[in-house]
Amino acid sequence: MEVLPDILSAGLSVPSMNASYLRDGFAHHGATVLTGTRLVAIADEGAVVEDAATGERRTIVADTVVLALGFRPAESHAAELAATGVDVYEIGDGRQVGNIMTAIWEAYEVARGL
Ligand SMILES: Cc1cc2nc3c(=O)[nH]c(=O)nc-3n(C[C@H](O)[C@H](O)[C@H](O)COP(=O)(O)OP(=O)(O)OC[C@H]3O[C@@H](n4cnc5c(N)ncnc54)[C@H](O)[C@@H]3O)c2cc1C
Repeated sequence: MEVLPDILSAGLSVPSMNASYLRDGFAHHGATVLTGTRLVAIADEGAVVEDAATGERRTIVADTVVLALGFRPAESHAAELAATGVDVYEIGDGRQVGNIMTAIWEAYEVARGL
């Protein structure tokens, strides 16, 4: 279930091999993909969803609902550490959620500037 008009369209772009693997996997296993559909509540019977365009609600019966809604950096300790007088360089998901490539690039840039 995805509230946007397409899956894999929020945030940073997903590498094409990961995107095609997921789309092919859903199709291969006959998974139902609902786009333009917003989760509004989790009830005893399952997930209560709403059509993002019309606001029409219905319940998708489920034993288990898995939420995969993205990531935000956790609260940073950088300022606290810097206050002790040491040099602090914040990189990777702790600074801004990205991927392995962005984390390595940021580490490289910091290391090069030391
Ligand atoms: C399910 C999933 C799939 C992903 N798939 C891909 C992918 O296919 N390709 C891709 O490029 N990226 C992928 N990513 C993103 C990628 O994993 C992250 O962007 C990358 O790992 C960020 O690196 P990092 O070093 O900033 O943080 P992390 O890799 O999260 O490393 C931080 C480390 O710090 C440790 N830590 C936390 N707090 C403390 C503490 N107080 N003291 C000591 N250690 C601590 C943690 O245990 C962790 O090991 C995926 C992420 C997830 C969650």
